[in-house]
Amino acid sequence: MAVSVLDRLKMGWGKLRRQYLIRFRKGYVEQSLSQRFGECLRCGACCKLMFDCFFCTRGLPTGCKIYSVRPMACRFFPIDERDLEDRNLVLPNVPCGFYFAPREKAAERPQLYSIFTGKEPTHAE
Ligand code: SF4
Ligand code: SF4
Repeated sequence: MAVSVLDRLKMGWGKLRRQYLIRFRKGYVEQSLSQRFGECLRCGACCKLMFDCFFCTRGLPTGCKIYSVRPMACRFFPIDERDLEDRNLVLPNVPCGFYFAPREKAAERPQLYSIFTGKEPTHAE
């Protein structure tokens, strides 16, 4: 499917947004990921945002040639619903394996350790 210039710009903005969130909004990232359920289906769509990543292997399921050292933005994708919207511009007919649930559902989960420090998150609300 052809992706418009506007959609590519939106995806580019999403890349910047994730960098910002991971660097400056760690509490938000941890809260949002605590509401994330499901698993990666290795569809590869998030490796084709704005452009095809050089490290993405071809075929399905896709893989990453630098998986063990991939950037934080790749490790935590999708951080929130907006990331799913970006990703759906690339592969609208195949949903991402992750989805986000309301806070109440996430609250039933055991306390997660901080994804950034490995310790208990300090942003608990
Ligand atoms: S879009 Fe979702 S299911 Fe597909 S590779 Fe990325 S995280 Fe995994
Ligand atoms: S570095 Fe790896 S995980 Fe990140 S976009 Fe590229 S192929 Fe995907």
